[in-house]
Amino acid sequence: MCPKDNSDTASGAVAERAYAEMVARHAPDGVIISGPDRLALWVNPAFTAQTGYGIDDLHGKAVVDVLRGAETDRKCLQHVDIACTQRREVHTELQLYARDGRVFWVDLKITPVFDALGVHTHFIAHMRDITERKKLEHQNDEMRQAEELRQSERQLLALTSEWLYSAKSFDELLMVVQRAMHTLIPEADGALYIYGTSRSTLDLATSWGTIPEFPPHILPDDCWALRRGRAYAYGLKPIQFTCDHVTKPGTPYFCLPIIAHGETIGLLHIIFDGFEEDGLMRHMREDVLRNRWDVSLICAEQISLAIANVRLRQELHDKSMRDALTGLWNRRWFMDRALRDFAMAEREGREIGLIMLDVDHFKAFNDQFGHDAGDLVLREVGAILARAATEMIHPCRLGGEEFVILCADMPPADVAALADRIRAALQALRLSNAGIELPEVTVSAGGAMFPAQGRSVEDVLKAADQALYLAKDNGRNCTVMA
Ligand code: GH3
Ligand code: MG
Ligand code: MG
Repeated sequence: MCPKDNSDTASGAVAERAYAEMVARHAPDGVIISGPDRLALWVNPAFTAQTGYGIDDLHGKAVVDVLRGAETDRKCLQHVDIACTQRREVHTELQLYARDGRVFWVDLKITPVFDALGVHTHFIAHMRDITERKKLEHQNDEMRQAEELRQSERQLLALTSEWLYSAKSFDELLMVVQRAMHTLIPEADGALYIYGTSRSTLDLATSWGTIPEFPPHILPDDCWALRRGRAYAYGLKPIQFTCDHVTKPGTPYFCLPIIAHGETIGLLHIIFDGFEEDGLMRHMREDVLRNRWDVSLICAEQISLAIANVRLRQELHDKSMRDALTGLWNRRWFMDRALRDFAMAEREGREIGLIMLDVDHFKAFNDQFGHDAGDLVLREVGAILARAATEMIHPCRLGGEEFVILCADMPPADVAALADRIRAALQALRLSNAGIELPEVTVSAGGAMFPAQGRSVEDVLKAADQALYLAKDNGRNCTVMA
């Protein structure tokens, strides 16, 4: 080995150390050198810039113990501890605290250093600031969560509209509305109001949530949404006034008109009752409220369509159950209703009367005065019967000139009296058609009772028919009870 070589090696080593020091000083990441006991020996300027701590602040301390804080993950710290004890390299992400209290995220890598004999002499820690990346990740998480929420809301709305559309009756629809609203906007209480027939008030149709005292009726003038003809949100605008029907001033709420076939038929009212926190009354956060507003608008639209749908269905159903000439219920309706009423009367031990009515000599009447005059008579019979109708008395046209009256919960004497009253009313009628005065029209009536004459609709109807046959035999224009 020549001396020149030696001095070359020596100067090479010096240069290398200078380079290493240059790298450590100017590295963008924080670098910490500590002893095998993990107590800090040296830090680079980037570390001081990151944390606000110089080596003088750290002497005799483990760096992680100085930088840890409330939000620092305990599990991660443990993981780092164990690796260092075992003199293994460790690489992790940690949330740490700078000297001024600022929280920052680092990508931390700690490498144990061994000398030529394999003795553990140092740890070198690299700390890269990843606060920005973490912030972006957090924002992405929030956006993903919001998107997931919107997605599940959409699914729930789709499911709700499916349920709303399959409601067969108004009552069923109200039940779906109640459940759906409670699920879609769980923080809110609410009520659905529907205009009464006079249209001077709206009546409470259903309500949900914990506020028990929704007023049973409200006046259209009491509500800003109804007065202005569009949905109204209280709690989202700097200038706003409470509707008169709202009894909790200062509480955010929505009023949304329910519109079917272009006509306002009701009001969806949604109210966000406050909650207590630290002894203070608090209300829904505005961004959450805005989201609920969007959901509410869709709900109001869906409920509007569903109500229109149920009404249309009801009209079609009614049409299929009505007789076109007289407007009375038809045979189909009679059979449905009689079956139900008979079953109920059986359970409750009540009586039901059936009265069969048949116009006397109607064939001859038709032949003499024409079919139009015959139709006129049938309509008049229908009108007299319709006037007799109550909650318990249901007149129906079975077909031709035959009618039946279903009298729920009525003793035989009252049934007979009703038949006679109708018979007399028809006899008293004076009709003319196309300028021709028509002769007196009479009916014969036969009455029978459940359960006296039978337990099935068929049996009681047959008994009434036989009684009617007897009435015809007795000279017509009279009533016979089976
Ligand atoms: P009875 O006193 O025994 O009941 O004699 P009737 O002539 O009334 O009995 P029948 O059952 O033989 O005649 C019923 C007639 O009713 C036959 C038909 O011309 C008439 N009719 C049935 N449906 C209608 C209708 O919708 N309009 C008119 N104008 N006549 C009808
Ligand atoms: Mg007949
Ligand atoms: Mg007849």
